[in-house]
Amino acid sequence: MALSPMMCEYKKTKEEHKDCILFYRLGDFYEMFFDDAILASKELELTLTGKECGLPEKAPMCGVPYHAVDIYISKLIQKGYKVAIGEQVSDPKESKGLVKREVVRIITPGTSIDSVNLDEKKNNYLMCIIMTDDAIGISLTDITTGYCILGELDSKNKLLDEIYKFAPAEIICNDTFLLSGIEVEEIKRRINTNIYSLTNKHLENEDSKNLIYKYLNKEENKELDIENYPSGKHALQVMLSYLQDTQKIFLKQICKIQLYIPEKYMLLDANSRRNLELVETIRDKQKKGSLLWVLDKTKTAMGARCLRSIIEQPLLDIDDINNRLDAIEQFNGNVIERDEIREYLQGIYDLERLISKVSFNCASPRDLIALATSLEMVPHIKNLLSQFNSNLFDDIRGSIYDVEEICKKIRECIVDEPPLAQKEGGIIQDGYNDLVDKYREARTKGKNWLARLEAEEKEKTGIKNLKIKYSKVFGYSFEVTNSYKNLVPDHYVRKQTLTNAERYITSELKELEGDILGASDKLCALEYELFSNLRAWIRDKIPEVQSTAKAIAFVDVLASLAFVAEKNLYTRPKLNKKGIIDIKNGRHPVVEKMMSSTLFVPNDTLLDGKENRIGIITGPNMAGKSTYMRQNALIVLMAQIGSFVPCDSANISIIDKIFTRVGASDDLASGQSTFMVEMTEVANIIDNATSNSLLILDEIGRGTSTFDGLSIAWAVVEHIGKYIGSKTLFATHYHELTELEGKITGVKNYAIAVKEKDDSISFLRKIVRGGADKSYGIAVAKLAGVPEQVIKRAKELLLELSAADITTFIRNVDTEEKEETCQMSLLDTMDNDSIVNEIRNIDIDDITPRQALDILSSLKNKVLNRW
Ligand code: ADP
Repeated sequence: MALSPMMCEYKKTKEEHKDCILFYRLGDFYEMFFDDAILASKELELTLTGKECGLPEKAPMCGVPYHAVDIYISKLIQKGYKVAIGEQVSDPKESKGLVKREVVRIITPGTSIDSVNLDEKKNNYLMCIIMTDDAIGISLTDITTGYCILGELDSKNKLLDEIYKFAPAEIICNDTFLLSGIEVEEIKRRINTNIYSLTNKHLENEDSKNLIYKYLNKEENKELDIENYPSGKHALQVMLSYLQDTQKIFLKQICKIQLYIPEKYMLLDANSRRNLELVETIRDKQKKGSLLWVLDKTKTAMGARCLRSIIEQPLLDIDDINNRLDAIEQFNGNVIERDEIREYLQGIYDLERLISKVSFNCASPRDLIALATSLEMVPHIKNLLSQFNSNLFDDIRGSIYDVEEICKKIRECIVDEPPLAQKEGGIIQDGYNDLVDKYREARTKGKNWLARLEAEEKEKTGIKNLKIKYSKVFGYSFEVTNSYKNLVPDHYVRKQTLTNAERYITSELKELEGDILGASDKLCALEYELFSNLRAWIRDKIPEVQSTAKAIAFVDVLASLAFVAEKNLYTRPKLNKKGIIDIKNGRHPVVEKMMSSTLFVPNDTLLDGKENRIGIITGPNMAGKSTYMRQNALIVLMAQIGSFVPCDSANISIIDKIFTRVGASDDLASGQSTFMVEMTEVANIIDNATSNSLLILDEIGRGTSTFDGLSIAWAVVEHIGKYIGSKTLFATHYHELTELEGKITGVKNYAIAVKEKDDSISFLRKIVRGGADKSYGIAVAKLAGVPEQVIKRAKELLLELSAADITTFIRNVDTEEKEETCQMSLLDTMDNDSIVNEIRNIDIDDITPRQALDILSSLKNKVLNRW
């Protein structure tokens, strides 16, 4: 037995799309067969049935109705599958034999354009990584907006930073990347991405070499110096080939390909992004509680996406930053105009995604109306912008095109409220096209004809309730209720029987039906054609609309930053390159917003490359150490994205990298212990930090025993102070570390003040010079409600253990001694210990060998008892 012809075709198509689930269109359904059916029935909870396929056993089958297909596809995409759409490409009515079917599109997580899969405030990136022995080429696109970049990186670490920065929905790569030792599973887990390995079909595709020049030939890309970036170019070429293969069309929306230069942006590794909670919180990955949540008062989805990417990419160039700050200052010097612009922005839909839909030929008449409505706001905004005077606003105005013609054409052609269905007419404005008007007239006249015929037939037959009815299957007919059945004339032909009525046709009615329905069908087809022509015309305007959309998104971001700055009482930061960070009365932008009744206590910060290089911050748990340190990192980061900052004044040195090591975040999912994670992070920081970096180190060394931990913390501070010179805030539990001030250049002690009364404490949240000499752990435990009995016992134990407190020993080190002194081992710190003293007091010339052995044995016992 052999497979049926249709199944043969199916198998052939499936063979070419092995890595996809094939949705095969059969009439009103998309069907899946064999293994795809078994898999999809499980994933989509569909009933698994069988279809005769020519073989003795039926082929497993499951299907979804065509009108609901998007939901099912989106579920599969979210689970990381790729879906190939096998569509009927010949008209079943006209084809003899088998209907022709072809894969018209492959949908993957990074190429989905369906709004069900997309977060409108987030880009949906596809990233291509091509790694070779001596270079890493990357390219990245969001086909829903047309954003497209290529770049080159020189290390795996930098590649990881970029992956975590863009958090693509899909990564396509060559095998070298997969075999490079990079923790691919870790990437998937952290950013919930899908990683697919490319085959030679894309890697070595000769046609893609031509394809890349088709894209690069566009006017907008002429100045891209791509030949100087061979690995970036390769990655772009492979990505475009992959897009061609999956989307099957030339993507007009990719009209401006840009070179991505990572060195233009502050480096933030994955941990720092996470720890600083830039766009989502660590704990529940929510926007609320993140920096983005505070800063995002944008009015458009494009603005929200733009702000998000700006927060992810702080700048390094002072002029670029000042341009943004100037614009914000101008906006806030002219709040009425600013707010007027924000009102116009409110009326703008997602222009970037609308225009990409135009490129895909899937924009509906409603989408075109949304496009026109949005573009109509643009001239008002451009006009208002001309009242501001700044470099950035000049650039922005230059990128906003004259879009009035597009609006005019859409308004002339499409009705204000078009129906959802695109092929059932009702789309085109009256007066736009003569033929449309003619068909419409025939249709209305037809209605009159029908009304007249109905009246005449009533009269002639005497059937008082005779009515002309329409059904999709039977067309027009006379409906006569059963009580009048005997009056029906002989020339009436029965067509349909209902419960209490019969339906009939006559030759006259049939003729009329031909005229009316003919006009209706022709009208619908013509309306669709006119709409498609308009859409095709707009396709040629994609670069203009895209440039305008980008400019509008940026205006939205600047207006949002200005609005937030005004409402939250932020100030304009000054920027320097002298290594000084001087913040007066700084506040944590998020914590101050989250606090309801209590007021946030502001604090100063001074860090420089010299005497104030490292701030050691002590104070009990809950005093506010982490908040203080993070607030400084956030203020620096905000300044470098060009935002005003939460403080009275700030002079910020351009920081090249921010590293944070915050809290003991157990990474159980990746099988690493807290301490291992902590040390890996420390190693990364030490390897990569420079004197222009800002380090936020919280409780280093806490994940191991006290002596180990203290030694590591000590050595880390020493290394940073002596060899790296990064500006560092180092919060520690080990108040012993305060001894480093004076021993290592640039170390200064700070404590978060607490008020002690009797045996309890209250937090003042104020940072003061000097170190805390106590941990106040028991006081905090008491505050937290640990029972009195336990607190009492803890105090007793503390007294006993204090005898072994190494602080006492460290204190004795002469603070005036040279820096080398502080490189002592911890054993050195025990130099006035009783055992050491005993050894010191032995007069070796005055004891017998027997006594020597006794002393040795006694010392050994003491040591054993102690440790
Ligand atoms: P630590 O790191 O010292 O354990 P945190 O920084 O986590 O302490 O702060 C504990 C809590 O104290 C925060 O959740 C916040 O509510 C509050 N807090 C911290 N700093 C301030 C401040 N400057 N003003 C007011 N409240 C603060």
